[in-house]
Amino acid sequence: MINIAIDGPAGAGKSTVAKAVAKDLGIIYLDTGAMYRATAYYAISQGISVTDEAAVKAMLEGMSMDIVYEDGVQQIYVNGLNTTPFLREHYMSKAASDISALPPVRYKLVELQQQFAKTHDVVLDGRDIGTFVLPKANCKFYMTATPEERATRRFKELTEKGQSVDYDTILNDIIQRDYNDSHREVAPLKQAEDAYYLDTTDLSIDDVIAQIKEVVHIKTKPVEQPPAPVPAAVEEKKMSKRKAKRMKSYYQVQTHFGIYRLLRVILRPIQAIFWPIKIVNKQNAMIEGNAVYTCNHYSKVDTFIPCFALFKKEAHILAKQELFEVPIAGWFLHKMGAIPVRRGEADIDAVKNVLSVLKNGKKLLIFPEGTRNRQGTQEMAEFKTGTARFAIRTKSPIVPMLYYSSPKLFKRNWLYVGEPFTLEEFYGARTPEKMHEATEVVRLKMDETRKLCNEYVANLKNKKRRK
Ligand code: C5P
Repeated sequence: MINIAIDGPAGAGKSTVAKAVAKDLGIIYLDTGAMYRATAYYAISQGISVTDEAAVKAMLEGMSMDIVYEDGVQQIYVNGLNTTPFLREHYMSKAASDISALPPVRYKLVELQQQFAKTHDVVLDGRDIGTFVLPKANCKFYMTATPEERATRRFKELTEKGQSVDYDTILNDIIQRDYNDSHREVAPLKQAEDAYYLDTTDLSIDDVIAQIKEVVHIKTKPVEQPPAPVPAAVEEKKMSKRKAKRMKSYYQVQTHFGIYRLLRVILRPIQAIFWPIKIVNKQNAMIEGNAVYTCNHYSKVDTFIPCFALFKKEAHILAKQELFEVPIAGWFLHKMGAIPVRRGEADIDAVKNVLSVLKNGKKLLIFPEGTRNRQGTQEMAEFKTGTARFAIRTKSPIVPMLYYSSPKLFKRNWLYVGEPFTLEEFYGARTPEKMHEATEVVRLKMDETRKLCNEYVANLKNKKRRK
C-alpha cells in the first residue's frame, strides 16, 4: 500500500498539494481535517458542546462515519447524513479544532484513518498523520508558512467563495488554532523526525507540488515498479555462464584506456578516409576536465567520429545494453568506455555510471534526444532531461555540437562545435520543472549552434562557387 502523510498547520497548502499528488499517482486523497469537522458538525447539530468531553464521548458511541467518494470527491456521511456541504463554514474550523483536542474523538477518528490506509493507497493530510496515525508511511511531509501568509490565503479562499470574513479575525483564529493544535495532550501538531520540511511562505503552489512530487516519485518507486534487477542476474538463466560473466564485467565502465588509445590510433585514419569530417571551432571542445558534449545523432557511425577526430583522451558514450551482448560489438563498446543503458526504464546503474565518470573528470558524449533521427534532417526531436540533469549534478560545462548532415561514405561533412556553456543558474535544483527549464536552455543552445553551423557551411559553399 502507498501511504503518504502531509502534515502541517491550517492554510499551509496541504490539501491542494495532497490532491495533486493523489491525482498524479492515481490514488485516493483523504482529508482527515474534514473528519474532525464532520464530528464537530454532528455535535453542534445534536446540541452538544464541542468542549464537553463526557457528552461528546457518549455521542461517539452512537455515531457512525462513512467516507465515500462521489465523482472522485470525498463525502463524509455521519449516521447516514452527508455533512460535506456544511464543513467549510468559517466557524466550523474553530469547532473542529476544539473537538479534535478531546482524546475519545482522536482515538475514534485515528482508528478509522488507520483502517482506511490499510485498505487503500492514499495521501492523507492532517496534523498528526506522520507522527501518530501512520508512523510508517512511505513518505512524510511537514508543510508550513507564516501565520500572516496562511491568513492571507484563507482570506482569499473564503472571499472567493463569497463568504464575508475579516482578515484580522482569520489571523487570530489561525494563531489560536495553531496553539490549540500544537498544545493538545494527544497527538499534537508537530513535525515527524523523518518528514520532509517545506516552508511554503515564499513558494508558489506549483513549486511546492513539483518538489513534493519529486520526493514522492523517488520514495514510492519500489512500490510502483520493483527495482530493476542487475541484468546479469536476470539474464543468467537465458545466457551461458560465460556470457553472463562477460556482461557483468561490461556493466562496470572501463577505467583502463590502453586498448581505447590503440583502437583510436588504428581507426582514426580509417574514419578520416571513409567518413571525412571537418571539425569547425575545435578549440571550443578542448576543455580540461569533465564536460558534457551534446550532439545531433543520425547513425551508428556518428557516435564514434568525435571519439576519433576530436577527443585526445577517452570520452564516454551511452549505448543500448542489448548492443553489449553482440559478440565483437560488445567488446568494442566496452573497450571504448561506453556506458550500457537499459532502455524503457529508469536505469539507476547507468545514471550512477554517468555521474561517476563525470565526477572523475572524464568526458561524456550524449545525444539529448535519446535516440537517433532516422529522417536524416537536422531537426531534433524533443530533448530528454538527462543531459541537463547530468550537467547540473556534476557541474559540468556543456559543449553543443552539430553535424551538418548525416555522415556518408567518402562524402565531406562538418561537425560544428559551439561555445561551451554551463547551467550554473540551476545548480542545486532538482525539481522536474527546473530540469525541463534547464533542458530548454540546452535546446536553445543547440538551435543556436545549428544556425551558426548552417551559416558557416553556406558561406563556404558560396566562396567555392565564386571561385
Ligand atoms: O485541516 P483542517 O483545517 O480542515 O482541520 C480542522 C481541524 O481539525 C484542525 O484545526 C485540527 O485541529 C483538526 N485536525 C486534527 N488532526 C488532523 C486533521 C485535523 O486535529 N489529522
